[in-house]
Amino acid sequence: CGVFGIYAPGEDVAKLTYFGLYALQHRGQESAGIATFDGEQLHLYKDVGLVSQVFNESIFKDLPGSIAIGHTRYSTTGSNNQANAQPVVVYSHLFPLAVSHNGNLVNTLQLRDELLKNNCNLVTTSDSEMIALAIAEEINAGADCLQASIKAFHRCQGAFSLVIGTPVGVMGVRDPNGIRPLVIGTLGNHPVRYVLASETCALDIIGAKYLRDVQPGELVWITEEGLASYFWSQKSQRKLCIFEMIYFSRPDSIMHNESLYSYRLRLGQRLAKESPADADIVIGVPDSGIPAAIGFSQFSGIRYTEGLIKNRYVGRTFIEPTQSMRELGIRMKLNSLKDMLFGKRVVIVDDSIVRGTTSQKLVKLLRQTGVVEVHMRISSPPVTYPCFYGIDTDSQDQLIAATKSVEEISKQIEVDSLSYLSYQGMLEETREHKASFCSACFTGDYPVPVAEPLKRSKLT
Ligand code: 5GP
Ligand code: SF4
Ligand code: MG
Repeated sequence: CGVFGIYAPGEDVAKLTYFGLYALQHRGQESAGIATFDGEQLHLYKDVGLVSQVFNESIFKDLPGSIAIGHTRYSTTGSNNQANAQPVVVYSHLFPLAVSHNGNLVNTLQLRDELLKNNCNLVTTSDSEMIALAIAEEINAGADCLQASIKAFHRCQGAFSLVIGTPVGVMGVRDPNGIRPLVIGTLGNHPVRYVLASETCALDIIGAKYLRDVQPGELVWITEEGLASYFWSQKSQRKLCIFEMIYFSRPDSIMHNESLYSYRLRLGQRLAKESPADADIVIGVPDSGIPAAIGFSQFSGIRYTEGLIKNRYVGRTFIEPTQSMRELGIRMKLNSLKDMLFGKRVVIVDDSIVRGTTSQKLVKLLRQTGVVEVHMRISSPPVTYPCFYGIDTDSQDQLIAATKSVEEISKQIEVDSLSYLSYQGMLEETREHKASFCSACFTGDYPVPVAEPLKRSKLT
């Protein structure tokens, strides 16, 4: 999911949020929503669809205020319907709250039982609503907004980057492991206004300046008095999802002082060094495989060319809810360039293989186009464990590398050779400490223990 928040009296905050969400569209295409606060009044608009489908000029008029938060949804828990669209709004006995959540809780069942025991009205099936209700519950029990929020966060386990709107300010929160990203930006000089967003690309689009990341286990509270920071967890550590770096976040977003494009280029260079191929051209799988393909070409000296053209108006196939739609989706999404490919030995680079359906179809397409050899190179290691923290890599039995060796996968997808980037290569090229990432989908070493029933549902 993508989350966004802004505190900017005098600005059209709903519209700025709209543009922020527009830049975060890649993080979720199922639904979009904006909540604004205008004094004590909360205004909300959300619906299923792309950001540009959900909103239009006339809706912004009904979203007044100086505080806004927004959300684009990618469903991992709960089904895809309007009730699960965010922001989630709850009413404490003092004031309304709006919550945008990115990530997945792993103790949802326990939290659900706690909330139901206290007669909470659960409207949706989403963990995000439970976070909102937990905060309201703590406020109703007498805590002030900050104290209540911190108490509620202590009841949550898993991944949560949150932006929370209240009548007096906006809160930005990361879980103690900082699994999902969240950044702070500033808008204007006097007075300084603050923006929160999943990625820096959402700051760029509205002309905000990147200030810093919200830290793991940090809560920032933005009000008319400015920005206050609280470290609410004593057990913080850095465990950013490595898949944000490899695939999920936009290549123009900044992490660890560089664009992810630069990191992905290095992954491709490293891949060429580790697993060279004898070929005529290098192509990438658009869009996410392109930077690594260019890196592969740079290191190997094999010419880079476009070989597959993507229909830009089709969403990410991976996010479509059913397997049959996914299979159709691949054909709708990519076409091959015969003039570039016919008679060639081709290195094709992609960022990851999850189920293997994309690769299998692509190889078929390349062969039909007259490619004589297909050497597939993947700029991440084999995905062997499911994600419980908000990226839909599905249950373990869906992951092709969980049950098959590289050689078996290579046979199944019918390539002449197949190599994955090494685990060490992936981490070393971050130029950050190895321990500062979650990489559980490659190792099964989960930074936050997963509750048994949930674990059983995905680990077969
Ligand atoms: P599969 O092997 O499952 O058919 O698909 C892998 C492809 O899906 C890659 O090209 C990758 O860019 C894309 N993809 C889309 N969404 C995701 C996601 O959430 N995680 C990963 N790892 N890859 C994804
Ligand atoms: Fe990211 Fe994989 Fe960890 Fe999930 S398990 S948070 S996809 S690194
Ligand atoms: Mg891709």
